[in-house]
Amino acid sequence: PEVITVQELANRMAERGADVIKQLMRLGVMATINQSIDADTAELVVQEFGHRLKRVAESDVEIGLEGEVDVDENLEPRAPVVTVMGHVDHGKTSLLDALRSTDVAAGEAGGITQHIGAYQVKLGSGQKITFLDTPGHEAFTAMRARGAKVTDIVVLVVAADDGIMPQTVEAIRHARAAGVPMVVAINKIDKPDANPNKVRQNLLQHEVVVEELGGEVQAIEVSAKSRIGLDKLEEAILLQAEILELRANPNREAAGVVIEAKLDRGRGPVATVLVQKGTLKVGDIFVAGSEWGKVRALLNDRGDQQTEAGPAVPVEVLGLTGTPSAGDDFQVVDSEARAREVTAFRQRRTKEQRAVGTARVSLEQMFSKI
Ligand code: GDP
Ligand code: MG
Repeated sequence: PEVITVQELANRMAERGADVIKQLMRLGVMATINQSIDADTAELVVQEFGHRLKRVAESDVEIGLEGEVDVDENLEPRAPVVTVMGHVDHGKTSLLDALRSTDVAAGEAGGITQHIGAYQVKLGSGQKITFLDTPGHEAFTAMRARGAKVTDIVVLVVAADDGIMPQTVEAIRHARAAGVPMVVAINKIDKPDANPNKVRQNLLQHEVVVEELGGEVQAIEVSAKSRIGLDKLEEAILLQAEILELRANPNREAAGVVIEAKLDRGRGPVATVLVQKGTLKVGDIFVAGSEWGKVRALLNDRGDQQTEAGPAVPVEVLGLTGTPSAGDDFQVVDSEARAREVTAFRQRRTKEQRAVGTARVSLEQMFSKI
């Protein structure tokens, strides 16, 4: 019996769907990303990728670096993770800055914010929203291409004076392809030539039906510049989040995704990680893509030291032995030996893939000469 889809298998191994399909083809199995495969085939694939497999029951396979099932009763509500998208100059950066300053702790003495690629806002109500501060469709697409599902909600920014533009349409397409619900932020309503009704009307042409026109998409009028409607936008995000029933198990080893990584002169390799499940703690040993490390320090977007970070919390992680890539999976493992084993395997595989790529190029070059 078929027990797991190719996509789910890829997710659990933190591998790309395309790579899993390729591996299946090598085994003589033709399957698309949404097709299901049986446990024996899944086991073969998992071994090829160098992961361990744990069969929980005859009818289920659980794959992962440490392989632990999150049963329903362990799940707790978590904050939504939001990405802001929209046409250039419609105010994505301005809106992210404005929203960031609605944090109850913002504006406190010494609250110098730094760019770490993501931040979390705590509202007066105590509710929290995580914003990925990497506006741009490329980042979103790159993450998706690597199989990382990081965003729960897309905030589509449309300037009320400019209306729907090509990148607005592109953003709608991205959100839809990813199956991520949208909240529309009609920005720049402070401008004299703002026409929010026209925006609502024109969204119809792209099958985005806002509530005012009988649909289900919330559209909020805001001004990032004049700080109008920010609380309403946050309310709309939280309402959408409620519908999604976002939950995660905080009481397990942490797993998540690398949002940003860089080699810092003074601090060495530094990664901003969005924890998706579990709780990351100082001292934890982890794998991030083809790199590993031991958490030396955790810093929030204000640069404050943290002892731990739970689901939906973005943190800067110090203690890496190399610099991973944005979109890489992040997973705490139980020993340094295990971390070395996994990264050695992944680095070897990357090298092999590169070698294959080079061979292909030279073949193409050969043909082009003929
Ligand atoms: P992005 O390219 O989408 O990130 O847009 P920016 O945030 O860089 O904003 C583009 C321009 O629009 C800047 O000059 C902003 O000052 C301006 N802008 C952004 N939001 C507003 C707004 O609510 N009202 C007005 N009048 N201008 C805005
Ligand atoms: Mg910008």
